[in-house]
Amino acid sequence: MPKIVIQKDRCKGCLLCISFCPRGLISVDKSLNKRGVRPVKVDTKGECLGCALCALICPDCCIEVFK
Ligand code: SF4
Ligand code: SF4
Repeated sequence: MPKIVIQKDRCKGCLLCISFCPRGLISVDKSLNKRGVRPVKVDTKGECLGCALCALICPDCCIEVFK
């Protein structure tokens, strides 16, 4: 199963990754990060494809995908 790592404190909350994940595994977290925005989180129980679309689309390179 691929592993997704999100650097939450770098996330600016643009939500691009949410719209690009084909499995709908990314959602908005409840708590604010250091930038004062709600970062995204990944559903670790979902079936991630390892497609890395989320990582590719993030303008701030906050997401890494390990296969
Ligand atoms: S690697 Fe693909 S399936 Fe997995 S969280 Fe990212 S966009 Fe979604
Ligand atoms: S694309 Fe990057 S900056 Fe935008 S919400 Fe997702 S992780 Fe945060």
